[in-house]
Amino acid sequence: MTKKINEIPYKIYLEESEMPKAWYNVRSDMKTKPAPLLNPGTHEPMKPEELSAVFCDELIAQELDNDTPYIPIPEEILNFYKMYRPSPLVRAYCLEEKLDTPAKIYYKFEGNNTSGSHKLNSAIAQAYYAKKQGLKGVTTETGAGQWGTALSMACAYLGLDCKVFMVKVSYEQKPFRREVMRTYGASVTPSPSMETAIGRKILADHPGTTGSLGCAISEAVEVATSTEGYRYVLGSVLNQVLLHQSVIGLETKAALDKYGIKADMIIGCAGGGSNLGGLISPFMGEKLRGEADYRIIAVEPRSCPSFTRGRFAYDFCDTGMVCPLAKMYTLGSNFIPAPNHAGGLRYHGMSPVLSQLYADGLMEAVAVPQTEVFEAAELFARVEGILPAPESSHAIKVAIDEALKCKETGEEKTIVFGLTGTGYFDMVAYEKFHDGKMENYIPTDEELEESFRLLPKMD
Ligand SMILES: *Cc1c(COP(=O)(O)O)cnc(C)c1O
Repeated sequence: MTKKINEIPYKIYLEESEMPKAWYNVRSDMKTKPAPLLNPGTHEPMKPEELSAVFCDELIAQELDNDTPYIPIPEEILNFYKMYRPSPLVRAYCLEEKLDTPAKIYYKFEGNNTSGSHKLNSAIAQAYYAKKQGLKGVTTETGAGQWGTALSMACAYLGLDCKVFMVKVSYEQKPFRREVMRTYGASVTPSPSMETAIGRKILADHPGTTGSLGCAISEAVEVATSTEGYRYVLGSVLNQVLLHQSVIGLETKAALDKYGIKADMIIGCAGGGSNLGGLISPFMGEKLRGEADYRIIAVEPRSCPSFTRGRFAYDFCDTGMVCPLAKMYTLGSNFIPAPNHAGGLRYHGMSPVLSQLYADGLMEAVAVPQTEVFEAAELFARVEGILPAPESSHAIKVAIDEALKCKETGEEKTIVFGLTGTGYFDMVAYEKFHDGKMENYIPTDEELEESFRLLPKMD
């Protein structure tokens, strides 16, 4: 390892003064803009006033803004970012050595805050705009719990109430995440619950269900729209979330530029697309403007393969079918993925921005089986020290695969991947892996076809 370590520091940090002051809106450079959100009743594009019962006004403006390239980050948010950012860009020297590859591997590590993931970058922004609008609180759903945790932290900081609907299976299996949220003052309700009309209906129709993200979203939206002074916030998929997450990519690019490093490929895991969208934004911008080229690779679980096997179609964002329709790669809002341990990657749809970029051939996607992801996670933990989240480990898996290809060809490619978080709350998954009890569930074509049949008819 000594052979290379002094070329580039092990960790590239930015000075506070080098941190991004504005988010970058990749939509501004897209020739084909992402398709608009549609009203589920009329199929007309949603107008800001229709969205304002659900979302905060300033966030609606960001959601619908396809043109402004840079949106200044308010000073309060910049100050909050300074508590845990800039996040390090790490040169994975030890992993390179272990793989004996000529490739140069870097990862942007977003797990250095108590929420343990990148989700805090958007949570603080969304909570800030809710507070600025004079609201009392926000509602949301959480699956594995990272988003709920991040939002609880942001709300505690700003003095906002936070109501989290947590997918029941996670609520029961991840009591520690739940307690972190309560430590930060959030109320946490297992979903489906008896507290909402949609929850009661789902429970009546499917007694004993352990819930899903789509169902928890419906409950959170119902409470937001029926409680005065509350709005709903969402941790992924939406354009505004990708915008906030662009801070990841902007820092990454600034750190690479500082040392004159040019990435060849950028890899990230994709659940709803927020970390990947944020990481790639400035690079994709260069690609769209014809200034540089990069291979950009989204990695998803084989059990929930939105990009690689989904349809690019308008679909509901939630099970209760109350949210606007979004055009995205989707497995159908009724698709309930098998119990994969990367909870953050179990959403049925994908960011409309990334969906359009993928449809336009500007990025690639691969789907990987769960046990191979955990093999990669364990190798990474042993050589690089960080115990990665199962979600993040999807990116690790493909970064390793690409580095091994370089070993075969002798190419010294520069690989950058997003290490979105840490896996301390996922030890049950690691335990299953160690005990040889982990399954690689892959949906059949028939299952997917059945789900596609329920996609909304758009004529
Ligand atoms: C939520 C989450 C993801 C997936 O969400 P995206 O919106 O696709 O980024 C990935 N990694 C971690 C650690 C997460 O918490």
